[in-house]
Amino acid sequence: MAQDSPVYRRILLKLSGEALLGGQQYGIDPPVIQRVAAEIAEVAGMGIEVGLVIGGGNIFRGAGLAEAGMDRVTADHMGMLATVINALALQDALERKGAVARVMSALQIHDVCEDYIRRRAARHLEKGRVVILAAGTGNPFFTTDTAAALRAIEIGADVLIKATKVDGVYTADPMLDPDAKRYGRLSFDQVLTERLRVMDATAVVMCRDNNLPLIVFNLNTPGDLIRVVKGEVVGTFVGNDLPLAGTGT
Ligand code: UDP
Repeated sequence: MAQDSPVYRRILLKLSGEALLGGQQYGIDPPVIQRVAAEIAEVAGMGIEVGLVIGGGNIFRGAGLAEAGMDRVTADHMGMLATVINALALQDALERKGAVARVMSALQIHDVCEDYIRRRAARHLEKGRVVILAAGTGNPFFTTDTAAALRAIEIGADVLIKATKVDGVYTADPMLDPDAKRYGRLSFDQVLTERLRVMDATAVVMCRDNNLPLIVFNLNTPGDLIRVVKGEVVGTFVGNDLPLAGTGT
């Protein structure tokens, strides 16, 4: 159903580090972060309270570093610090687009950002500031998808919106399988039993057990984020108590 006004009061948007890569192999592509920031600033300008969780995969991923021989905990610390770098870049890009933004980190880095304190985060959101939640959960062996589910529940977001490179969840990888079909609606249990690659299982279980709906959409389609927050049918909706069979389209 198409609407002109937002259907959500408070959202948690999860961006992977890869979303900032653009055509690069590593780091942040300035035109890409500016476009992403413009869309997020537009959402905030609609009066929606926006929490953001950003990944770090465009810089470091703990698992990859550990595979190359590094101690896993140290590698995860580096991954979490990578998310702080991305968060600072996003804060800057958002402020250039006229939004007010604050980085709150799960690791204490007082010279560059605030600590994550739930009540303070809620206050920033109430004042219309975009809150960028950095350093994941602050613990090794977790992902920023799990951090996004955790923070969404903590701040009382109405929905978790996960930005990806494809326009939803498919029966198989659409880049590899031309017969792959996109799901319109899915249940969290179906995601788990069919091992669909939406988020890691910890994040999916947190959403399921706390009844937090999830929308997966393609960040590379300009305007889709705005359509999602207006309640238009975009991407894949994942919730509880949805049909267990079929693609639900
Ligand atoms: N990380 C972590 N704990 C967390 C979140 C992230 O240790 O709670 C580390 C982990 O090494 C991970 C890296 O930070 O590989 C970057 O996060 P993620 O891989 O989730 O980023 P994305 O894939 O979304 O870019």
